[in-house]
Amino acid sequence: MPRRPFIAGNWKMHKGPVEADRLATELKPLLVDETAVDVAVAPPFVSIPAVVARLKHSGVHVAGQDLHTEAGGAHTGSIAGEMLRAAGCAYVIVGHSERRHGLGEDDILINKKVQAAFRAGLLPILCIGETLEDRQAGRVEDVIGGQLEGGLEGLFADQLPPLTLAYEPVWAIGTGVTASPAQAQDVHAFIRGWLRARYPAYVAEQTRIQYGGSVKPNNAAELLSQPDIDGALVGGAALRADAFADIVRAAR
Ligand code: PEP
Repeated sequence: MPRRPFIAGNWKMHKGPVEADRLATELKPLLVDETAVDVAVAPPFVSIPAVVARLKHSGVHVAGQDLHTEAGGAHTGSIAGEMLRAAGCAYVIVGHSERRHGLGEDDILINKKVQAAFRAGLLPILCIGETLEDRQAGRVEDVIGGQLEGGLEGLFADQLPPLTLAYEPVWAIGTGVTASPAQAQDVHAFIRGWLRARYPAYVAEQTRIQYGGSVKPNNAAELLSQPDIDGALVGGAALRADAFADIVRAAR
């Protein structure tokens, strides 16, 4: 069975409630008839209620950009997966490189967040990716393999197909530099092979692997046509309704 394409937009720390409602209002008519592609947007926490309300019955899902490892408690400034679920989120991004490298999140913490997402009834989008230094040192597979090992630790095989992996080379995020389709496909094939070697065959066949890193309307089709690229995690271009909708259409 072919994997259903999945395009997610990461709005990062852009779009407060008013602007987020405006962007969701623009997106809704462009995406409401989409039946071939799964689509999600990840607004900042405070904008989630506005976006959930606006996108109701549109088929577009809403995602959190992060979650805490615990379901609640004395964790000032944090948001629990259960809260995201209650607010209407279906997905949550975990281990984005801006959190790994900007905030020091490691694979142990990221694994706890993946587990917490499942406990809360959210589907994790687990981000992995090497830095430019890793790539230049020939360490891509070591780094990606380590992130997979750490991030997926303790999960059951059945939990993997509902989880999405997002391969996001750090050097391609927000830089305007995209991995070439061949470079991206190489790593996606490595990831699928990694899954194939460790889990029953259906896991590698069904688990979706998104590519992320300066995906734009003009490069999306070629990236998405690669056999192991099942969708995209989109940053900058997700902030423009027409550009994001073009990327969704390119995934059909
Ligand atoms: C991202 O934030 O996950 C991302 C890929 O950003 P951009 O598309 O702007 O590179």
